Amino acid sequence: MALCPVCGDSAEKTVLAQVALVHDAASDLVQCAACGVICFDPLPSVGILNRFYSASYYDFRRWPGEAGGAWFGRKLRKIAPTGRFLDVGCATGFFLHGIRQSTDWEVHGVEFGADAVAYARGELGLDILEGDLKDANYPDGYFDYVHVNNVLEHVLDPSGLLAECHRVLKPGGHFFLAVPNGVNDSRNLVDFHGTEGIPARSPSGHIFFFPARTLLMLFERFGFAVMTKKTGSIKRGLRNAGLLPKKKNWKFDHFPREDVQVKSGQGVVVNEGNRKSAFYYQYRNFSAELSNLPGLHDFGLDFLFELKKGL
Ligand SMILES: [Zn+2]
Repeated sequence: MALCPVCGDSAEKTVLAQVALVHDAASDLVQCAACGVICFDPLPSVGILNRFYSASYYDFRRWPGEAGGAWFGRKLRKIAPTGRFLDVGCATGFFLHGIRQSTDWEVHGVEFGADAVAYARGELGLDILEGDLKDANYPDGYFDYVHVNNVLEHVLDPSGLLAECHRVLKPGGHFFLAVPNGVNDSRNLVDFHGTEGIPARSPSGHIFFFPARTLLMLFERFGFAVMTKKTGSIKRGLRNAGLLPKKKNWKFDHFPREDVQVKSGQGVVVNEGNRKSAFYYQYRNFSAELSNLPGLHDFGLDFLFELKKGL
């Protein structure tokens, strides 16, 4: 890798492991000394990404998704009675649908997966753009709130995505970013390669791994003020970090696997069954929120940020 794709630094990168998305193409997993980001080198081609994602089934659970949107809607109503909300990587749109049902906010989504887009438009009647955020060409300062939940680690140009989120936000607009803690999230790939001697498959398609300092540097670069920063998924994070015993089968998802062909229209499996009471989902969302710890900690798997675009 000549230049770091996040900070542009040209120094030699430290190789941590060999990694892969598909069974017949491996990359190094490298870390940039300048900004700390850990990523695939080379980054996967669009062809490899398409093979990886088209071979993945998604099991979308409708009711927890909608309840998550309703829960989030409470926060939006506290910010303003109405506004324009964008979910980047909105999948089948259950979260957006939950917000729309519980608030007067106008909701928009962007999603890469064609089958998920078809579902969100056809079944839920949502305004969804298929493709990258850049393809949408939203006007400057169009949104009051931009929500990016577990997307940044999947895309080929994460800096470009953050820059575009900043551009489409109003001055003073809110930005929620959830992203895995890269130090913790990359640990199993390094451990797998170290013990098995073969490239570790990145099972969820993560190609970038962001340490806390890299994220804070990016926020400063793009002009996001940090309102809150939290760490979640502590139990899984403790396992990854070796502070709790790993699950017996932790290596399973890291072994190479052949492509599975998923036909168009079959990439989305929606689970509509077993809707529980609104109380139950409120309790689940409330207790999940309580389990997030203030600050950024390497023993947790997820980082959650509430940011604001500077005025
Ligand atoms: Zn860098």
